[in-house]
Amino acid sequence: MMAILNADLHCHSTVSDGTLEPEQLAARAKANGVELWALTDHDEVGGQHRARAAAQALGLPYLYGVEISVTFAGLTVHVVGLGIDPDDAQLRQGLAHTRGGRERRAREMAEQLAAVGIPGAFEGALKYVGNPELISRTHFARYLVETGVCQDTHEVFRRFLTEGKPGFVEHRWASLGDAVRWIREAGGVAVLAHPARYAHPSPTHEAALFEEFKGHGGQAVEVVTGSHSAAEAQRYAEMAREYGLAASRGSDFHSPGESHCDLGALPWLDGRLTPVWELLAHRIVH
Ligand code: AMP
Ligand code: MN
Ligand code: MN
Ligand code: MN
Repeated sequence: MMAILNADLHCHSTVSDGTLEPEQLAARAKANGVELWALTDHDEVGGQHRARAAAQALGLPYLYGVEISVTFAGLTVHVVGLGIDPDDAQLRQGLAHTRGGRERRAREMAEQLAAVGIPGAFEGALKYVGNPELISRTHFARYLVETGVCQDTHEVFRRFLTEGKPGFVEHRWASLGDAVRWIREAGGVAVLAHPARYAHPSPTHEAALFEEFKGHGGQAVEVVTGSHSAAEAQRYAEMAREYGLAASRGSDFHSPGESHCDLGALPWLDGRLTPVWELLAHRIVH
């Protein structure tokens, strides 16, 4: 398979912090011309069989997926797993453990928001939650837009919920080594998600992330994503080559009203890179 393939290997459903059901995403991907699709909900594989069944019914080739929250040297980073077996017991147990602290964290976030004059945010966020084990900052963001505190969810993250702002609660996610191992041992390929999004405290911190990710068996990096500019995509294309990693492409679509980038509406992957789907040909479900 070639680099020029409309693959979209990163998006979210109501099973995590997206607003569309897995079936609706499959239909939208197909309508937008996606040729290879993966649903990658945060810390959860509960939507995988629905997504695969919907994709199969539409004749849309599918890779099982997940996006795991990781704490690496004090920073939250995301690792996408593609081509995993969603029924793998170790993976499921690891994910259950990773999402376990979310409710307590959400209650603390709500307490901080109440202290700055925004009451009822826990209950408010819950109205947007499709999966009770997966309360996300995104659900708080939707509530703060609903109540008129902010104009859109991006403003919420600028003013609240991020490091140093009210509503931010430090949280310890999975370790990088565990996340990569769960993915690999479930038959998948680990992909370092949207690398330009991380506020590394120093250039050596980013190099350490790439080296350790690779050392643990990580095999790919997201180069083309909805959260990269053209210049960032170019920078991480170079990093992929430097570190000998394959390259992935995914919109990170969450919602028609919120996401800048729709399913399948991405620039092409640089033809000189090894596309991650070349490593996953045997894992594609037709
Ligand atoms: P959580 O896993 O609960 O910490 O929430 C992380 C999610 O918040 C991400 O997956 C995004 O969907 C969303 N998010 C994080 N930062 C931003 C931002 N600056 N603008 C919009 N959404 C964001
Ligand atoms: Mn999200
Ligand atoms: Mn992410
Ligand atoms: Mn994502």
